[in-house]
Amino acid sequence: MRRPLVAGNWKLHKTIAEAVALADELKEGIADVTDVDIVVAPVFTALAAVGKALEGSSIALAGQNCYPEAKGAFTGEVSPSLLKDAGCRYVIVGHSERRRIFTESDAFINLKVKAVTAEGLNAILCVGETLEERNDEKTFDILTDQIKNGLQGISAEMMRQVIIAYEPVWAIGTGRNATPAQAQEVHCFLRRLLGEICGANTADQLRILYGGSVKADNADELLSQRDIDGALVGGASLRAADFLPIVRHRLK
Ligand code: PEP
Repeated sequence: MRRPLVAGNWKLHKTIAEAVALADELKEGIADVTDVDIVVAPVFTALAAVGKALEGSSIALAGQNCYPEAKGAFTGEVSPSLLKDAGCRYVIVGHSERRRIFTESDAFINLKVKAVTAEGLNAILCVGETLEERNDEKTFDILTDQIKNGLQGISAEMMRQVIIAYEPVWAIGTGRNATPAQAQEVHCFLRRLLGEICGANTADQLRILYGGSVKADNADELLSQRDIDGALVGGASLRAADFLPIVRHRLK
């Protein structure tokens, strides 16, 4: 049985004070939730303060990105070890905004997955097709490349620290989510593909999250699909009133 995971990606939003206030609200709002892993990813500058605010709760902290080197002359970058030092247990890797705006390649993302898992942290590897790719019926080819290249050289052992987030680019921040059937079709495909890469047993344990305009009113339908093990949430993670019902919805 895969344990559900719901992660909030706060992107480039919230001052330290605002982030701590949201963390306080979430901490109170999930005090009785024991059957869902909950993760929040604030901006780097708020990580330590949010980590402190979350002490004593089950909510885990994530970095939104990282650089694959541990230290050195890499101005502006943050390493997995520093994220760990700031209290993170997860790192989001390969988000579509990083792929598109910062032109990150699968090869570079692969280095990050390796660096994150080597540090003992969990990598949330994001994959997803654009609308054009979907319309051209390239969805499965694109995802195959992103998964195979992104996970190149990752051992079955390390795969225990990997979570996949399927985020169709056309659904991110658009208010247009994939239908449960569309999402389930892709998740099922991904699990089979992962089985070819790391074996059916490992693939069976692997959590595959859906991301893309998840809201309180569509979470239940999406997350009750057989191969959908939780959600990566952007916009609806910025207010406790929006995020808590997603976390608390009836998960399988
Ligand atoms: C995201 O950025 O990962 C995301 C899923 O955003 P949203 O929920 O706003 O579509």
